[in-house]
Amino acid sequence: MRRALLVVTLVLGAALAGGGAWLAWRLHERPSLEAMRARLLPAAAPRTGEPRVRFLGVSTVLVEDGRTALLVDGFFSRPGLLQVLLGKLSPDPDAIAHGLALGEIERLDAVLVAHSHYDHALDSAEVARRTGAVVVGSASTANVARGSGFPEERIRVVEGPSELAFGDFRVTLLPSRHVPHGMAMGEIAEPLVPPARALDYREGGSFSILVEHPRGSLLIQASAGWIDGALAGRHADVVLLGVGALGAMDEAYRETYWREVVDAVGAARVVPIHWDDFTEPLVEPLAPVPDLVDDLGATLSYLEGKSRATGVELAWLPLAAPVDPFGSLVARRARRVAPIAP
Ligand SMILES: [Zn+2]
Repeated sequence: MRRALLVVTLVLGAALAGGGAWLAWRLHERPSLEAMRARLLPAAAPRTGEPRVRFLGVSTVLVEDGRTALLVDGFFSRPGLLQVLLGKLSPDPDAIAHGLALGEIERLDAVLVAHSHYDHALDSAEVARRTGAVVVGSASTANVARGSGFPEERIRVVEGPSELAFGDFRVTLLPSRHVPHGMAMGEIAEPLVPPARALDYREGGSFSILVEHPRGSLLIQASAGWIDGALAGRHADVVLLGVGALGAMDEAYRETYWREVVDAVGAARVVPIHWDDFTEPLVEPLAPVPDLVDDLGATLSYLEGKSRATGVELAWLPLAAPVDPFGSLVARRARRVAPIAP
């Protein structure tokens, strides 16, 4: 009897260890980003009056012009996989300090939150508190901020399409849709006090964020979803295109996503965002999402093909370095309209 128990224990133990080893091995399989590194946009020193963007992982993107600074999401804590699956989450003060230092961010006018999942909204209030910003987002995002004790007078709740002015930037939040993975959907109906489970950070509605500046316009599409026709009549020179979970979608879905977002705004350049493994820390080089979680390789091949077929430039952002998102686009446009010599 005791011997049978020992055998069962050994077999179960071996199975668990084997399963763990298999999982660990599969989580190490990630796509190569070599082809994308060739598409890196060059760093450009900040200059007053000229927009710069800095990519800080997932869809955390700084847009600033030396006078005004806007940050999308402001997610820096990036808790590890076990913490996300089994534990509770809180903003991590050290990770936030590291993220802000990496982006050379001291003062912000606004933190613009694309939706309330934890990989977007977890740190938004703490980042806004440290930088003097207002938090802009859905009613659910407002409840994430309230749960952190963030002052009510610095919360801007957005429902329908809404236009806000910050210095020379005009920001329009347009209701959009999340990529359909079905996790943590619905609203956050009450202030969400951390620590809270990952799934308590419900989506609360998604936004496309259009940032217009006299020097160019930028659409930040944090999640790979859309509402039919929602971007019709809008223009953006550059789209920062959320590709998270897009590798799990079929060709027809990707085609419609491209049409409803990239074609709809007439963009000349597309830059993928939300491609990194956000259970890993914010260090160079950022790890791409494991193949087991999402087929990023398939997404990038699709985008390469689309770029070749349409002439829309596919570009890549370095981690944290300031980049002129519109650099070289003006020249391209000028070339396209140059008259043919008689
Ligand atoms: Zn999400």
